[in-house]
Amino acid sequence: MSTIPTATISRLVTYLRILSRLEAQGIKKTSSDHLAEEAQVSAFQVRKDLAYFGRFGTRGAGYAVPTLRRELRRILGLTRPWNVVIIGMGRLGQAISDYPNFDQYDFIPKGFFDTDPALVGQVFGGFEILHPDELPRFVREKGIDIGFITVPQAAAQEAADALVRAGIKGILNFAPAVINVPADVHVEPVDFLAGLKRLSFYIQNPQLKEELA
Ligand code: NAD
Repeated sequence: MSTIPTATISRLVTYLRILSRLEAQGIKKTSSDHLAEEAQVSAFQVRKDLAYFGRFGTRGAGYAVPTLRRELRRILGLTRPWNVVIIGMGRLGQAISDYPNFDQYDFIPKGFFDTDPALVGQVFGGFEILHPDELPRFVREKGIDIGFITVPQAAAQEAADALVRAGIKGILNFAPAVINVPADVHVEPVDFLAGLKRLSFYIQNPQLKEELA
């Protein structure tokens, strides 16, 4: 199996956002130079990122915006909605579940889970909060694809184990903990404190340019 840098996938998401805006503005054509300028990378980088997935556009003529946008959506798996559950309905879980534009991005919250007896049974955003014991049945019946982990650090592995047992293959982990999962499960960490630490490093070392490749 070939490998693709994580940074490439992150940039594809950026290119898609740019293409969506261009399409909304009725712009039909773009180029690697234009995408590069908007994404603040080199045109070579844009071409290299896209080349992992095939040939797009024609030399000299650039890219048709709707076609490239459709291709990137296909590559990123955004041609179907993804059903999401949130594990841990404390401050962060509730804030995320309240985000109004979720489904606009094809990620649809379908259920909320918590172990706290004071929260289980409460209705939140139209859903009754369930105990994680219900996960296997719920995932099977509702066709859940992705689990968000928004539990305290000490409970993150337990929450991940419950998601894996229920058959979930993708986890967005907000807890500041490395979690162990089987090889066929992908974990994407979201850690704003780690981001702050990277920021403080780069502010303190302005001579070091971020490695983009
Ligand atoms: P919180 O204490 O308000 O909520 C945590 C919830 O998880 C509680 O309702 C608790 O009952 C529930 N819980 C505990 N163990 C559980 C389990 N095994 N299964 C299901 N539910 C369980 O905490 P918070 O402030 O919402 O933070 C949640 C997590 O998110 C923490 O790990 C925190 O460090 C992290 N966090 C991450 C970011 C980020 O950017 N990634 C930002 C803020 C907080």
